[in-house]
Amino acid sequence: MLLITRRSKLLRIIAVICIILPLLYLLFVRHERKRLSNYQAAEYNQQWVKPFLSDGPGNYEPQDLKPRIGPGENGQKHILRSDQKNAAQDSESEFGMNIACSDEISLDRSIVDTRDPECKRWNYPTKLPSTSVIIVFHNEGWSVLLRTVHSVLNRSPEHSLTEVLLVDDFSDKPHLGKKLEDYIESLDSRVRLIRNKQREGLIRTRSRGAQEAKGEIIVFLDAHCEVNLNWLPPLLAPIMRDRRTMTVPIIDGIDHNNFEYRPVYTYGHYFRGIFEWGMLYKENELGYKELSKQEYPTEPYKSPTHAGGLFAIDRNYFLEIGAYDPGLLVWGGENFELSFKIWQCGGSIEWVPCSRVGHVYRGFMPYNFGKLAKKKKGPLITINYKRVIETWFDDKYKQYFYTREPLAQFLDMGDISEQLALKEKLQCKSFDWFMKEVAYDVFDKFPELPPNLHWGELRSAANDRCFDTSGNGPPALMSLHYCHGLGNNQLIRLNEKGQLGVGERCIEADNQGIKLAFCRLGTVDGPWDYDEINKTLYHRVYQKCIALHPQTGHLSLMPCDNNNTYQQWIFKQIRPNYR
Ligand code: UDP
Ligand code: MN
Repeated sequence: MLLITRRSKLLRIIAVICIILPLLYLLFVRHERKRLSNYQAAEYNQQWVKPFLSDGPGNYEPQDLKPRIGPGENGQKHILRSDQKNAAQDSESEFGMNIACSDEISLDRSIVDTRDPECKRWNYPTKLPSTSVIIVFHNEGWSVLLRTVHSVLNRSPEHSLTEVLLVDDFSDKPHLGKKLEDYIESLDSRVRLIRNKQREGLIRTRSRGAQEAKGEIIVFLDAHCEVNLNWLPPLLAPIMRDRRTMTVPIIDGIDHNNFEYRPVYTYGHYFRGIFEWGMLYKENELGYKELSKQEYPTEPYKSPTHAGGLFAIDRNYFLEIGAYDPGLLVWGGENFELSFKIWQCGGSIEWVPCSRVGHVYRGFMPYNFGKLAKKKKGPLITINYKRVIETWFDDKYKQYFYTREPLAQFLDMGDISEQLALKEKLQCKSFDWFMKEVAYDVFDKFPELPPNLHWGELRSAANDRCFDTSGNGPPALMSLHYCHGLGNNQLIRLNEKGQLGVGERCIEADNQGIKLAFCRLGTVDGPWDYDEINKTLYHRVYQKCIALHPQTGHLSLMPCDNNNTYQQWIFKQIRPNYR
């Protein structure tokens, strides 16, 4: 008996030691890591020397680049033979891009230097901070993923590139299994692969990459990029000056069909990231206010937001501000969350004209959102937007979002109390401050939205069918379809100023009929009057009413006739079944 109790006591002591010691060790490692990197952050700041222009090539400019010959070299387009059409089409539908074409192009191909020639003369700090380039991926094509890696290895300063960290978001394509591990093994010891145990979506996967990274600076890239010449030092220099600066390269386009590398802006023009009130990402040409702050046109400039996939940031700073809101799921809105958080909580975003990275814009999104999306009721991206605006917008601005996206009011965004607590803890400024001091040009393009007089489906009294965009983009004729109450194509809004909107588009009229059109930038006014009694939609300029043609179903403007049911339209709010 005594023996048993003594033994169990011993076991208990061993068990306690087994648990406590590793715990203490982990705490120590964490503390050391933080202490060390804060120290390093301070150190790299001391290494910072203001970039300067020289007459000749700058200190990181590549010398004696040998011309290369082959498919797609120099960023040229590569056209497949006609007998490869099937392979091309298959890969387009599997990956949203022509992997068959990409497969024929060297992983080390040369690309066209899209920088302003002045960029070649900048000199950056001679010692750069350690950098982890993080590439998250889900079911990407082999050659685009690896061309991203190769371009980073080929075009980054050796001493600064600590690692290329690949984070696999639970891909299930065979080529991304052991074959990828073997390839990485043979490539360069700085390339490292980690894998998620379940699908997390790109947002959480990037946050995980940041946790796991070893570098002082982390740079995120999509898994279908090609970095351009001397892309990294210009991204790092502003962060060395101020660790709360996030930097963004200028994102050139790589054609998803023929892999031609093209500059995104016409020569000498620069843009910055903004947004419209439905939280779609937009860009606006750099205005006088920003240009006047620059000594040289190739210097970095401030931007309110960024597109999302490609940027550099101090690793510890990113973790201090909570990385991405972990409540954001899979894809969308995270670029705004990070932008608002950085600006409102004391940091800044700079776009860097001398750092260029090509990105393949896909034809369509080839993946679904997996199990994560199934748990949620309603459109996931709009749920993300709602979390972001409820955390960062002031009440006045939230209204613009709900005016533009009326169904968002019914969505369950989950718990945001931790986000609000973080905002409090970091003593972040108001959205009004952000709009006035940073994003002052948003209103030039997307003015304050007046309330909707009516929103919902717009039904014909004559045939019980509803206005529908049929999924077309502008310009296109509007038509009527059976009413399904599901929003998007049939969710029509009439605002107090007479603008008839559907999504980010407007409904206008010309002599061909009633059309889906691009809304005019800088105004929220429109030509429409809705007559509540006669149910007519009257065009103030043409002084006519929207009419349905009884035989053809065509929508056009006709002389108003209050007794004609073909001119009667009924707005009915949609109540989605989200709960
Ligand atoms: N991605 C991911 N998990 C996902 C969806 C995407 O890791 O659930 C990766 C994807 O492979 C890519 C990056 O996240 O490297 C950005 O996604 P994508 O390129 O589809 O976004 P887009 O450029 O179209 O905004
Ligand atoms: Mn992408």
